[in-house]
Amino acid sequence: MDSVGVAAAAPDAGPGPAWQSKCPWGAPNTTSISCSLADVMSEQLAKELQLEEENAAFPEVVASAEGPFITGENIDTSSDLMLAQMLQMEFDREYDAQLRREEKKINGDSKVSISFENYRKVHPYDSDSSEDEVDWQDTRHDPYRADKPTTTPRRGFIGKGKDITTKHDEVVCGRKNTARMENFAPEFQVGDGIGMDLKLSNQVFNALKQHAYSEERRSARLHEKKEHSTAEKAVDPKTRLLLYKMVNSGMLETITGCISTGKESVVFHAYGGKSATEDKVIPPECAIKVFKTTLNEFKNRDKYIKDDYRFKDRFSKLNPRKIIRMWAEKEMHNLTRMQNAGIPCPQVVILKKHVLVMSFIGQDQVPAPKLKDVTLGSEDMKKAYYQILNMMQQLYKECNLVHADLSEYNMLWHDGKVWLIDVSQSVEPTHPHGLEFLFRDCRNVSQFFQKGGVAEALNERELFNAVSGLNITADNEVDFQAEIEALEKMNEDHVQNHGKKLSTFSSDGDPPIYDE
Ligand code: ADP
Ligand code: MN
Repeated sequence: MDSVGVAAAAPDAGPGPAWQSKCPWGAPNTTSISCSLADVMSEQLAKELQLEEENAAFPEVVASAEGPFITGENIDTSSDLMLAQMLQMEFDREYDAQLRREEKKINGDSKVSISFENYRKVHPYDSDSSEDEVDWQDTRHDPYRADKPTTTPRRGFIGKGKDITTKHDEVVCGRKNTARMENFAPEFQVGDGIGMDLKLSNQVFNALKQHAYSEERRSARLHEKKEHSTAEKAVDPKTRLLLYKMVNSGMLETITGCISTGKESVVFHAYGGKSATEDKVIPPECAIKVFKTTLNEFKNRDKYIKDDYRFKDRFSKLNPRKIIRMWAEKEMHNLTRMQNAGIPCPQVVILKKHVLVMSFIGQDQVPAPKLKDVTLGSEDMKKAYYQILNMMQQLYKECNLVHADLSEYNMLWHDGKVWLIDVSQSVEPTHPHGLEFLFRDCRNVSQFFQKGGVAEALNERELFNAVSGLNITADNEVDFQAEIEALEKMNEDHVQNHGKKLSTFSSDGDPPIYDE
């Protein structure tokens, strides 16, 4: 038993020595309340004691909860504190009114006005006591916006005679400028102008705008640099362990370095080693695609996988980390399909979690250039075009896939031909947005080759029909897109009603063919 317990329990303990009551480390003053065990256990008593304590500690809180600062009939005048605060409020209001009068007098009709705003006692939002609890962005009144979007009519002024206000009016202009600060990048600190009627002159606004834009560009550059400098460290410890194991097992000879750091993946080059099993040959050079486990980049890719029925059942049950593994898995499956159809693409070596090892397109550690980075002669350009047309058709018909990110960025030029890469986001044509993705791919390809001077290049609509075998006749982009969306919707409705997808689209009213 500790000494406090003893002091409280022993009736003959008597008052402690003098130091005990003064010294902060001494035993507490034991003004013992005599009570029975039943009392001690009583909840009622506990509540009463608690209330007493609270009242003693926070008298003003209890008082103010009953409606402070409100001048009216039913005010509680029992608290001195509250009375004092009310008087102070009243005083402040009068002071502010006086200030306003003085301000008006000084400024008069002068063009340059002096504001006494900062000397006011009652800040505009003091009068609204709920302000603290409400996020100002949620309120209907956005303090950054000019009070009324005072649109100046075409003639350039409003009002009559002496009260004319032109669009160049200082106040109107100033408020508009303040409101326009919203358009700056979110990271750009525009300061705390909440509740104030800020008016920015054109000169100040333009200077700010300039600064905001240059800051935005600067931070983008910095970010880019950072991405590259951390390339080697771009993988987390778990990934490093995975890579280490691959080298340790002899499957990979060495990992030489990083080829690319993208938003969603980091790609490394490695020399291949020996396979543990006889039947598998490891390519002499490999590319290791590590899907980034920093999850934020993948959020906006949900739409590709969520609606892909191949992953539908699994998607909802997975945590974000597993979803990233699924991207890697998807890339592997899609590459395998393409490989089987004979489309030039990396060959899958192995998939471990979010790390996909495939054959390297390039030589001696130098990756094949992207189509956007090579300058091809007109013959090669034409050849590349027809090859891509062919590949897109094969992809659609034989692999039942739409690339969904096809462009000169994801095609490599190697060994005198085009290689397709980056297929983690590829979907089947009956994906709810599959045809839209295909149309986008077609647009990219058409534009690239038309700009590249290939006279034979089909336009995006012709290319779409050539790849899909559909016969959409609309002769303009808007109608064409509308028809695509109608087809997608038809398919979705069909799935809703029959629980099955049409294995192919048919635009000419043929009875649909089912996948079994
Ligand atoms: P991301 O989703 O980051 O665009 P990619 O699959 O397109 O991922 O790979 C990024 C880059 O890495 C490519 O542009 C290409 O330069 C290089 N790369 C990817 N895979 C290979 C490969 N198998 N062989 C050679 N280079 C590759
Ligand atoms: Mn890519």
